[in-house]
Amino acid sequence: MSAQLFVVATPIGHLDDMTFRAIETLKSVSIIAAEDTRTSAQLLKHFNISTPLTACHDHNESNKIDVLVQRLLKGENMALISDAGTPLISDPGFKLVRAAQEHGIRVIPVPGACAAIAALSTVGLPSDRFSFEGFLSSKASQRLLQLEKLKDETQTLIFYEAPHRILECVKNMADVFGADRPVGFAREITKTFETIRKMTLGELVKFIESDHNQQKGEIVLVVGGATQEKDMEQEKLDQLLTRLLQDLSVKAASQLAADLTGIKKKVAYQRALELTAK
Ligand code: SAM
Repeated sequence: MSAQLFVVATPIGHLDDMTFRAIETLKSVSIIAAEDTRTSAQLLKHFNISTPLTACHDHNESNKIDVLVQRLLKGENMALISDAGTPLISDPGFKLVRAAQEHGIRVIPVPGACAAIAALSTVGLPSDRFSFEGFLSSKASQRLLQLEKLKDETQTLIFYEAPHRILECVKNMADVFGADRPVGFAREITKTFETIRKMTLGELVKFIESDHNQQKGEIVLVVGGATQEKDMEQEKLDQLLTRLLQDLSVKAASQLAADLTGIKKKVAYQRALELTAK
C-alpha cells in the first residue's frame, strides 16, 4: 500500500505561526524532504521533532524524485517542507508533487503561512482577483519586458523581490505602470521590523530611497491592477456625462464627451443611455 505525501507550510518569520497540524504531521511521517536540511533542522529542533530530513532542493530535485517516490510506494509517509512558507510557492517541490501524483500517491496539503497571501490580505488592494508573479528576472532588460507584458493586466499583481534589487525594481515598475499606480509594500511580515504600507509607486521609490532600512529583509510587492485606473476613467466619464446630460440630449452629450475625452462615441452613447435610465 502506498503512503501519503504531506505538503507542509512552515512559518515565514514568527515561529508561532507553525500550525498544530504541521507539528503533528512532521512528527508522524517517516521522512521529511526539505529544501535545505540545515535550515529545517533548526525549525525541527525548536518544535522537538526528531524525524529524519533529506534534501530535496532545486539542484537535486530531478535525481532525487525517483528515490523519494520509491520510498513512498514502499509505504513510508513523507512530508515536504521548504525553508519558509508554503512549498512550491517560489520554492522547490513541484516535481516531487507531480511525480507522486503520477504514481497514484495521495498528496495532502497542510496549509499555513505564505508571504504572498499574508501581504495581499493586509495591504488594502483589491483581493478578489490577483495574479502571483513570483520573482521578476534579475536582468533589467528582461524585467522591463516582463513588466510591459503586465502593464494592462487588470488583476492585482503580487511580486517577490530580493532586497538588493528592490529600489531598481520599483523604479522599473513606476516607469512601466506609471508613478500613480497604487502599490502595497509588505516587508519582514511577522518579524520585528514588519512594515506594511500602501502608497503609489512614485511615493514608494522616494520612501525606499530616503530610508535605507527599507532595502533590507524580505519583501512582497502588491501592485494594483490596471483596472483601478480604468475605474477612474469611468468615474471621470460619468461625471462629465452627468453634467452634460443636464443641458443636452443623450446624442449631443455623448458626442461632446467623446470629443473631449477621446473615447469612442458608441461607448459614451451607451454610458449616457445607462445614466439617463437610472
Ligand atoms: N514559499 C514562500 C512563501 O510561501 O511565501 C516564499 C519563498 S521565496 C524563496 C522567498 C520570498 O518570499 C522572499 O524573497 C520574499 O519576497 C517573500 N517572503 C518570504 N518571507 C517573507 C516575509 N516574512 N516578509 C515579506 N516577504 C517574505
